[in-house]
Amino acid sequence: MSMLKNQADALVKVQNMSAGDLEELFGAFAPVKGKVAGALYNSDTDGMKNVLLHSNPAGVLTGLKIAAVLSGAQGAVLIVNCPVNEQELQANANMLGLPLTIEQASTVSMLDHRDDALYCFDELAAMASRLLGETPGCLISVDDGVPQEVGPETEIASMLPGGVKGILADHSFYSAESLRGLMAGEMKSHSGVIHTIGSAQCVVDLLKREIRTLREKSCGKCVYCREGLYQLSQTVQEITEGRAKAQDVELAKEIAEAMTVSCSCSLGDLAGKPLLSVAENFGPELEAHVKRKECAAGVCLALIQIYVDLAKCQGCGTCVRACPKGCIEGKTGFVSMIDGFSCDRCGVCLEVCPNGAVVKTSGRAPKLPSRLTRVKGARRTEEAAQEKQESAQSRRRRSFGRVAGAAAAGSGSAPSGIPSSSAGAAAGSAAPGVSAAAEAPKAAPASAAAAEKPAQGVLAAAQAEAPGTQAQEAARPDLTVKKVGNRRRVFARAKGPEDR
Ligand code: SF4
Ligand code: SF4
Ligand code: SF4
Repeated sequence: MSMLKNQADALVKVQNMSAGDLEELFGAFAPVKGKVAGALYNSDTDGMKNVLLHSNPAGVLTGLKIAAVLSGAQGAVLIVNCPVNEQELQANANMLGLPLTIEQASTVSMLDHRDDALYCFDELAAMASRLLGETPGCLISVDDGVPQEVGPETEIASMLPGGVKGILADHSFYSAESLRGLMAGEMKSHSGVIHTIGSAQCVVDLLKREIRTLREKSCGKCVYCREGLYQLSQTVQEITEGRAKAQDVELAKEIAEAMTVSCSCSLGDLAGKPLLSVAENFGPELEAHVKRKECAAGVCLALIQIYVDLAKCQGCGTCVRACPKGCIEGKTGFVSMIDGFSCDRCGVCLEVCPNGAVVKTSGRAPKLPSRLTRVKGARRTEEAAQEKQESAQSRRRRSFGRVAGAAAAGSGSAPSGIPSSSAGAAAGSAAPGVSAAAEAPKAAPASAAAAEKPAQGVLAAAQAEAPGTQAQEAARPDLTVKKVGNRRRVFARAKGPEDR
């Protein structure tokens, strides 16, 4: 196998062979009214086989000579879409006595070349190999690597790196399962290029790109190729945006099937293959996009959600500052919130978050709060502050109880004695905080009976207002409640003269 090297020996050998010798070796060819043409397939959007024009011009020209002799063509034409060494090619053609024209074109016009017989460069070089008694192989390049000539019996799977979920070759998608047992010779690849599909890649996204590539290359002369590719691109775009229905996919499949038999060249013939092969070999992944609006690889932006995990966010604000779209709301100590409508899923927030709190998911995001909420730690701090405040209040109440108890002890067991100002002062010394209120009031009642009556009325009001603590205090005869401003305060009763 030597297709990738210049087959100068073949060029020499073919000059000494008659048409009969060639027919014996290659069989009869269909007669051609025009020329024999060497070109890439229109469906070949990779152009890897152009390498033969540079590495093996002798083989290509030898093949053209053999085809021209056996088909009775009037000359040869090379249709190329890359820079070539025209002088070298012409020199080889002159050696063979083959009239050669070189045409630059991105696609082969089937109308202009309707009378010509078209051969791909590797088919021409393969003829040269057979002339030399060699078995031609298949030119294969994996992931744009160096092309290699492999035997037709080489299993495609054996050429791939591990962990791939499938390949894209000649606009057809193959899953790992469908590749089992597939040989290079069986694939009959027009381009010879294999693109591997990793687990992080989305097949539907690749399908969208493949159809776009075909649209860019289509010359647009055939209705099915032109309109069919437009329809397919629209449907696949809708699938990646979560807007397609199952019946849209079915219609697209019908269009794709019709394209394979209604177009003028290989590009149109293969243009429906991407969709059909995805439906056949990656059905579950396609269905997930259409029915559940999920992109497992997280590539189709419209089908992924980016949100902030409440449990992980520390409210540092890094993502708020980093978001180029300004669509993250947040402030220090609060869980950031992403505006899903404005977010373009650029992923910056995912990268900058120091706590891994920004989550990218396909499908539904969990229920999130509709307004800013404190981060978990901050909530705990707030609770602790509240508890502290409550405990301070409780301490004040206990302290107040001690003061009141001291006042009662000072007054003996008199149930409703009139407290003296000195007793109030004593109480005040025991509990200075409360004593200001507990000191003997200036307007102390003149007698116990006179003091009790209004005091009971005030106590009742205090009970109504403060059924908790004040009600408890009101039950104690050694206390009294007075209105100070708008508030009611509890005081120790001043001791009467009999208590002194
Ligand atoms: S099938 Fe497409 S690329 Fe080929 S001739 Fe028709 S329109 Fe042009
Ligand atoms: S993905 Fe990009 S646009 Fe969306 S919130 Fe994050 S940083 Fe902003
Ligand atoms: S999501 Fe991350 S970066 Fe943004 S505030 Fe929370 S912890 Fe900080």
